[in-house]
Amino acid sequence: MRKPVIAGNWKLFKTKDEALALITELASKVKGVTQVEIIVAPVFTVLPTVKTALSGTDIALSAQDVFWEEEGAFTGEVSPRMLLDAGCSHTIIGHSERRQYFSETDETVNKKMKASLKGGLIPIMCIGETLDEREGGKTFEVLERQIRGGLADLPAEVVKPVIVAYEPVWAIGTGKVATEGQAQEAHAFIRGVLADIFGRGTADATRILYGGSVKPDNAKGLMACADIDGALVGGASLKGDTFASIVRYNE
Ligand code: PEP
Repeated sequence: MRKPVIAGNWKLFKTKDEALALITELASKVKGVTQVEIIVAPVFTVLPTVKTALSGTDIALSAQDVFWEEEGAFTGEVSPRMLLDAGCSHTIIGHSERRQYFSETDETVNKKMKASLKGGLIPIMCIGETLDEREGGKTFEVLERQIRGGLADLPAEVVKPVIVAYEPVWAIGTGKVATEGQAQEAHAFIRGVLADIFGRGTADATRILYGGSVKPDNAKGLMACADIDGALVGGASLKGDTFASIVRYNE
């Protein structure tokens, strides 16, 4: 069975001291949780600090983005090898904010996916439609394009560890959560596309997270959907007690 994943995307928040306070509170509040994989994704600058604070816990560390080259004249970028060196096991790739504000495309997502998998980092690949696309009846078309583009030229055995996050753009940071029906429908579609590309075995083993205004009061219902295997949480991951309640959705 697929082990649930609850991942916190801290976005552009938290200095070193703030990050330490958050991770210390979170670690104490999720102590003893073994049935859920917990991941936090702080900003680059605090990764080593958070890694040290995570020692002795089962919480994994993720970056929020990565570059596809290993090293070179690429000012401002960070490579998979450097993220591993900072203590990361995962990285988010293709978050809608990066697609929207930093010109991320399916092609750059694909380069980052390949480099991360080659370097030994587990990617959390984000996909999702905008409100216009949903209202225009294009949701499935967009999702299929993003999946096929992001995972292009990758064989099934390499794709196995990948985590997919379905994040409808209209639900991110808006308080407008997708209904359980909307989310399940999209997740089942995504799993179908994965099965078409990589085979049923890989599709059934892939964790597909929902992201978009997940809160303690809606987490349990979303997580009960057959094809929802976890959550990528933004705003509600910035408070230890709130994020811990989401992690403990089943208690
Ligand atoms: C996100 O940043 O990935 C996200 C889903 O944000 P929020 O939970 O705040 O909607």
